[in-house]
Amino acid sequence: MKGNLIIISSPSGGGKGTLIREVLKTTADITFSVSYTTRAMREGEMEGREYHFVDRATFEAMISAGDFLEHAEVHGNLYGTSKSQVEKVMATGTDVLLEIDVQGAATLIGKAGLDAVSIFILPPSFETLRTRLTLRATESSGDLLIRLRNAFDEVLRYELFRYIVINDDLTKAVDDLRTIIRAERLARTRQNDEIQAILSGFDASKHQFENL
Ligand code: 5GP
Repeated sequence: MKGNLIIISSPSGGGKGTLIREVLKTTADITFSVSYTTRAMREGEMEGREYHFVDRATFEAMISAGDFLEHAEVHGNLYGTSKSQVEKVMATGTDVLLEIDVQGAATLIGKAGLDAVSIFILPPSFETLRTRLTLRATESSGDLLIRLRNAFDEVLRYELFRYIVINDDLTKAVDDLRTIIRAERLARTRQNDEIQAILSGFDASKHQFENL
């Protein structure tokens, strides 16, 4: 059985990074999809952990080669999800968690045959978003302004998503995310192999009963 494709989006500063780190620490059978980006590496980041950092030419060559499941220009940088990485992990029955922007999410949610679990993290207010992004202090003031301006349109696209998690209280929001991931694993269509194994056991017993 294939793993679930779990898409998590929010405006920049929505707190999804912290939430996702907590979920990954405390949930089994889930892998984070490490995206490619042309953005400069921030202090404390590591190649291959937060992102694969590449230049624009490399990124564009990867687009031409069809290496991305989706890609988008976000706040002036390119970001993309590796198709082979996602497919490899899902084939082992492990869930893949994508942390992507709303444009990328829209591309994937609209893709035929792709049954994704989409979750939007909504900050409790614009002021909270602004404070978080300002305190994070990872952007120049120009970049900060771009991210805040983009947030107005991003929150309006919440309707694309199957689930909304309001990120007010961190513990509750982490718990909400874990609940969604668990519930999605219980969907009938996700348990076909186990169900079939159990039913064939029933079938074997039925024949014994018929011959009594
Ligand atoms: P940051 O530069 O703060 O790490 O990320 C900026 C935005 O790009 C965030 O909204 C993040 O979710 C998004 N992002 C990260 N990786 C990808 C990706 O592979 N595809 C898309 N479409 N967006 C991504």
